[in-house]
Amino acid sequence: MLITHDTRCALDTVVDLVNSAPEDDATSDGLPDVAALEVFVREHEISEVGVLTENDLAAVRGIRSRFAAVFAAPDARAAAGLINELVAAAGTTPRLTDHDGYDWHVHYFAPGASVADHLAADGGMALAFFVVAGEQERLRRCEAPDCRHAFVDLSRNRSRRYCDSRTCGNRLHVAAYRARRKEAAR
Ligand SMILES: [Zn+2]
Ligand SMILES: [Zn+2]
Repeated sequence: MLITHDTRCALDTVVDLVNSAPEDDATSDGLPDVAALEVFVREHEISEVGVLTENDLAAVRGIRSRFAAVFAAPDARAAAGLINELVAAAGTTPRLTDHDGYDWHVHYFAPGASVADHLAADGGMALAFFVVAGEQERLRRCEAPDCRHAFVDLSRNRSRRYCDSRTCGNRLHVAAYRARRKEAAR
């Protein structure tokens, strides 16, 4: 499937957002405060975002768990329902833009949208393209035993099982982990 530059950026943003969530009680939130959200917005070049507040942080965390649900959706119908809710709640104003030297592409967020609505509209539409293309199963979670990171499998034959963190793709690491588990279970 053809993935344009802006869709790719929106996908990366969604994946990074989902993976900023604490995996369990022992890990800390990747978006602990407004300052962290400001860094996230800057690093992902999210345009037209004003001054951020605690309300924005809470709203973004809410959107984050809704995106996480899309990556956990068992089939295209479930994913479609979740994406429709996300995008509808955000409100959209599709329009062509060539800001900052990028080629023409479509922005979906409404002018003046909050950062959460911006993420929901453009990230939601990026995920929607996968459902439209019959490729919903490319929206995955890492199969390494100690990792549940979300990722988008862009490999030709949809064969990727692990996220691109350094350890997960390493079969030896996975085997060693399983062996430790077995040992511990005795
Ligand atoms: Zn743009
Ligand atoms: Zn992983």
